[in-house]
Amino acid sequence: MDFLLNCAPFSAKMALIVQKYGGTSVGSLDRMRNVAARLKRTRDEGNQVVAVVSAMSGVTDGLLKMAHELTPTPSERELDVLVSTGEQQSIALVAIALESIGVEAASITGRQAGIFTTGSHTRGRILDIDPTLMNQLLAEDKTLVVAGFQGVTPSGMIHTLGRGGSDLTAIAIASAIKADVCQILTDVDGVYTCDPRIVPNARKLPEISYDEMLEMASSGSKVMQSRSVEFAKKYGVIFEVRSSLNNNPGTLVLEEHPAMENVVIRGISIERSQARVTVIGIPDAPGMSGRILGALADAEINLDMIISNIASDGFARHSFTMHSNDLGKAQAALKPVLAELGSGAKVETESGIAKLSAVGIGMRSHSGVAATMFKALGDAGINIGMISTSEIKIAVTVDERHIEEAARAVHDAFKLDQEPVA
Ligand code: ASP
Ligand code: MG
Repeated sequence: MDFLLNCAPFSAKMALIVQKYGGTSVGSLDRMRNVAARLKRTRDEGNQVVAVVSAMSGVTDGLLKMAHELTPTPSERELDVLVSTGEQQSIALVAIALESIGVEAASITGRQAGIFTTGSHTRGRILDIDPTLMNQLLAEDKTLVVAGFQGVTPSGMIHTLGRGGSDLTAIAIASAIKADVCQILTDVDGVYTCDPRIVPNARKLPEISYDEMLEMASSGSKVMQSRSVEFAKKYGVIFEVRSSLNNNPGTLVLEEHPAMENVVIRGISIERSQARVTVIGIPDAPGMSGRILGALADAEINLDMIISNIASDGFARHSFTMHSNDLGKAQAALKPVLAELGSGAKVETESGIAKLSAVGIGMRSHSGVAATMFKALGDAGINIGMISTSEIKIAVTVDERHIEEAARAVHDAFKLDQEPVA
């Protein structure tokens, strides 16, 4: 008779949900119990769930530290083998926590999930996912707990996907198993118009486009790994960023739709600890910029803003911003180039600056956006250093001491605390 009980009507509303839990959300056994309870609740509401989990917070860093204590240059192959164990611990523990409350669960490593990668160790890229085993276990109605951040090359080498890579695992799996919903559950409530610790009246956004999210991430808002957002955009995976600690709706990240352009600025992000390098007295001749940028690229310096002006008197100047940690490296890399540029060439540097970026797809169709932003900063008595723009972003540098005030001034100027009128 038992099997009759299993013949409960199959609810048409049953959804397949991917939920990703980050390191903080699984940071202790108590938190894992909470995750298990939440997964059970999602199930009890009639859904099937695939959880993707990170290593417990601090574990990845701790493992990396041990390796670097043995040698400053551990091999990346072994680092992948090492750090992937962090996620392997948490999937087993979360599955055990689920079973302890009566939910049939199965932990699954990246290899078992059929996540095939390419590229190099510690920075693997997902090539393909073979969801056969996941689908089989879902058909048995198991709740799956998949290790984030890891995959395997077609020849069987363990790869990790770059720091924060569990987001990518979740999004890729959601696409591979055609999930109805993909939720990135984290320790923040969603994506805000600005960091609420800096701008107290910042507002949680109901939705944001992939492109805006990418611009926000690349200009300092560290909600999610950028590669994961790029992947989601490429494969059209809509996902939601929401809190693992409460039930509030979060922020939906999706392809832009026409109504989104009505909002001029979606959000503001800031990035501290920036430095500026300016090369002056560059002869106005072909190949000069390539030579300068080439030297910085060879030194693996990640440049952010690049600004140059039209040459006058036969000389040009280029300014770049970078993280202030890279300043010394940049000066060293430019030294031999200066000698080639001639006696008039000189390098000037400035640190202690920060970048403020206003991001919004609406600026494509609205005018006067830069003027509003610059006026707000001027009225607040804040001096603008460099300015750069893209189609959906205006960024300025200011003295780092004034960055928070600058963020509040621009946030106010665009009335980002108020619900936009449709
Ligand atoms: N555990 C990995 C890290 O700390 C991956 C992740 O958390 O998403 O980067
Ligand atoms: Mg982590």
